[in-house]
Amino acid sequence: MIKVGITGGIGSGKTTVCKLFELLGVPVYYSDTEAKKLLDEDEVVKQQIVDLFGHDVIDESGKVDRKKMAALVFNNKERLEQLNAVVHPAVAQHFEAWCKKQTNVFILKEAAILFESGAHKQVDKVIVVSAPLDLKVERVIKRDKVAKEEVLKRINNQMPDEEKVKLADHVIYNNEKELLIPQVIAVYQQLIN
Ligand code: ATP
Repeated sequence: MIKVGITGGIGSGKTTVCKLFELLGVPVYYSDTEAKKLLDEDEVVKQQIVDLFGHDVIDESGKVDRKKMAALVFNNKERLEQLNAVVHPAVAQHFEAWCKKQTNVFILKEAAILFESGAHKQVDKVIVVSAPLDLKVERVIKRDKVAKEEVLKRINNQMPDEEKVKLADHVIYNNEKELLIPQVIAVYQQLIN
């Protein structure tokens, strides 16, 4: 089975592209969603978070309060690295276990920070979804109902798309010029052959 990572900047359309692959029967591992689930449900991960940040980050229902945790790591590189050192290996391990249960010719691992987290080393191929900045901003403002400055701040925190494209095996352009579905089918065909 081929493991394929799929990444791209905020609002590039990774999730949209993944949904198209899912329609073609490709299993998709959504790293962000799984990371959140691990924080909510995995007792070992939760304990490591408490060891790092104290009991204050656990809310009344016993779950990690992600907003509080985000505030604690915001603008604090050392704390962010400590958090990543807990979450990234936990997701990597969970992904490996998930892969063992899949039977498709290839699977996708969707991750906004595939390269930044080192998760690209866990996959055989990488697809990068790329979109122009103005379109990404427009889409995220519409989707998340946030201010333009907020979107730009998030985008500036990530590795630029141009760098990601250089590291990609396949690039899907979600730019309203090239059609998305034929590009997805073309990559799909290359990966199954
Ligand atoms: P994030 O990293 O923020 O989760 P993403 O890369 O997964 O973003 P999507 O959620 O797939 O991006 O797309 C962002 C928004 O733009 C969504 O609301 C999606 O419906 C919309 N969108 C994406 N691609 C297109 C397209 N080709 N045409 C119209 N809308 C699109």
